[in-house]
This record gives sequence, C-alpha cells and structure tokens, in this order.
Amino acid sequence: MQQNIYLLGAPGAGKGTQAQLLSEKLGIPQLSTGEMLRSARLEGSELGSRVAAIMDAGKLVSDGIVIELVEHRLARADHQDGVILDGFPRTIPQAEALDALFARTGRSALKVIAVDVPADEIRRRLQGRRWCTRCKKTYHITDNPPPPGQSCEGGGTCLLELRSDDKPEAVEKRLQTYADQTAPLLAHYRAKGTFFSVNGMGKIGDIFSAVMACILA
Ligand SMILES: [Zn+2]
Repeated sequence: MQQNIYLLGAPGAGKGTQAQLLSEKLGIPQLSTGEMLRSARLEGSELGSRVAAIMDAGKLVSDGIVIELVEHRLARADHQDGVILDGFPRTIPQAEALDALFARTGRSALKVIAVDVPADEIRRRLQGRRWCTRCKKTYHITDNPPPPGQSCEGGGTCLLELRSDDKPEAVEKRLQTYADQTAPLLAHYRAKGTFFSVNGMGKIGDIFSAVMACILA
C-alpha cells in the first residue's frame, strides 16, 4: 500500500528528526522543499532553470512552482511506494493545491501526523540551540552540550553561537507565522479524516513509537 505521510508541527517540534527516522524505517523517500529546489537547479531542466532564475534574483519561489516540483518528483519510479513530506505544505493554499495534485494523479490520501509541543518548550529548544561556527555542528546548551574534552574538528574547543533565526525576537516571529499560516492546516486535515496527533514531548524513540502506531492504525 502506498504510504504518503506528512508530519506537521511548529519549528523545533522535532518533525524533521521523526521524518528521517520514518524514511529509514519504511524505506520511502523524504521530500523536502529545500532539497527539491537545490536538485532542480542542478538537473538543468527547463523547470530547474526557472527556479535558478527566481532564486538568483533573491525572490521567493511561488507555490505554483513548488507544486510543479512536487509533481515531477512524485512521478518518479522510486516514489510510487510513498513519500514523507517535509516542510510542505505550510499554508492552506499550498495544502489545497497538493490535495488537487493527489486527486489528479490518483495517489493514496495523505496521512497527517501532528507533532504537538507547547510553545514554551519550543522557545526553550530553539533559544538554547547553538552551532559551532567552525565545524558547523549543532548543540543545545542543556539537552545536547558538546561532550567535555571533545575538541572541535577545526582545533581547540567549539566556538558556539546562537543563530540569528534562534534569537528570541526571531523565534517569536517564527511562532507567529506558524500560528497564522500553518496551524490552520490542523483543522483542514482533521476534517479529511486521515489526521493523527502525537505528543512531541519526551524521548525521540518514544515519540517515534507513537508516530509508528499512527502509521499502522
Ligand atoms: Zn566545532
């Protein structure tokens, strides 16, 4: 049976980690918008050159083009057992365009799993995140600090910095964008009857078990 899965949640909810684990467990590809845009440029197709022109001009790629990219990708032979969507759709118009694409191409209904994490925990996770400007590894000041005595690949100890995206004012903006544009998808998919919700607090393995229970339901 074809498994089309979308993990929905706020930034920092851990959906990327779960999507990757699911992709490995089920042996089906993960479809991320960023990766699709990058590979379209490299392919040198007509669509790829349009994407390159838009990105090089510093403009945002429209929903229509992202849907075209998704359609191209879903047509591939290795995407017929299913896909795990990562970071798309993010708005109601995108979700509606995707629904229409699924109906037009006869794909099985999208199974949506919401990863539920309270806003205060999202703030704690994102604002505690640090990355090393030399080796580019990501850490968390309390959840995942660099092990004592570990030296940076660039030599010495890691130079940890807060990304501009994870600064308090940027985090508030991201949470607001999520609440305004993405959270309405919860009701959109709940109404379609293939919607599940899991508690995103706790250990990665426990959350993954809950996600798998939704897949097998
Ligand atoms: Zn480092």
